Amino acid sequence: MTTAHGLPDGDRILRALGIHRLSMPVPFVDAGGPVNAYAIEDGHLGLAFFDTGIGTAEGVEALHAGAEAAGLDLRCCTEIFVSHGHVDHYGNAQLLSERSGAPVRVHPGDMEKVVGESVWETRAPLYAAFLRRQGVPEEQLPVLAEMGRHTGKFSRRVDASRARPLIEGERFRVGKLRLEVLHLPGHTPGLVCLWNSEHRLLFADDHLLARISPNPFLELVDERTTRRALVQYMHSIQRVRSLDVDWVLPGHGAPFQGHRAAIDSLIRFIGRRQDKVLASLDAGPRTPVELSEAIFGPQKGPRLYLTLSEVVGNLEVLEDAGRVRRLDDGPVDRWTLP
Ligand SMILES: [Zn+2]
Ligand SMILES: [Zn+2]
Repeated sequence: MTTAHGLPDGDRILRALGIHRLSMPVPFVDAGGPVNAYAIEDGHLGLAFFDTGIGTAEGVEALHAGAEAAGLDLRCCTEIFVSHGHVDHYGNAQLLSERSGAPVRVHPGDMEKVVGESVWETRAPLYAAFLRRQGVPEEQLPVLAEMGRHTGKFSRRVDASRARPLIEGERFRVGKLRLEVLHLPGHTPGLVCLWNSEHRLLFADDHLLARISPNPFLELVDERTTRRALVQYMHSIQRVRSLDVDWVLPGHGAPFQGHRAAIDSLIRFIGRRQDKVLASLDAGPRTPVELSEAIFGPQKGPRLYLTLSEVVGNLEVLEDAGRVRRLDDGPVDRWTLP
């Protein structure tokens, strides 16, 4: 809903609390639309950021245009909070820290995706071995490796000297708002949200979006062990469901209300997807790539990585519930009904 002032309702309420939503275009179709950075007024001229958007030329331009329109001085940043280690969220953290000298706070679980030199080169063989075990065709492996290598064209990494850890339970006072850090692993292992209990605002980044189910992005411990993204997500989302949230300030799209209805419909959606996985296993054991094809159709490149993340995530939830079993004695993992 838009008011006479030209701002949607949620943004008008935020503005009264000194919160500005700056949105930036993202070049990925699956992201859920333009990404949001939230600038929170901190004292007279100060400014804290929760997320910083994407660091493409268009992203940097939109950040500057949004700040100028809102009368914000980017040199006056006091804190920079990064919700999680995806390029569309930490993209301008380094730039804002250079302008202002503000520290960049990141949860330790996502630190290596954001800070210092990229460790992708050392991780790539691990991911190739894991993906091969999921049934990914050999010709797709280099394509997926390139995906990990080229995050630099979307965002600059943050100097280690600027980074500080951000952990569960930390509290910050920013302008009119008391903010508490909630560590909510799932979409990524180090994802955090900020919670303001007084005004019941949840800065939710990609943990909860209005219409998109957050991808349980595959990350590995070793070539056989994932970080169990969807299993973790199911716990984290219940934690948010139990909060008395008024407005959700998402990472993509406009602020919205009704977080419990959104979460319940998301959980039903995930349940239906698990039914599809189980139905596809009726005919016998399948590899994750075969399941991905059965559910999403043939996929390649980044789309294949996203659909595999969905399939593996759901298999792990079903495995915990005793409803599927992994057959991992051969070169390729297959899954079966018990
Ligand atoms: Zn994300
Ligand atoms: Zn995102």
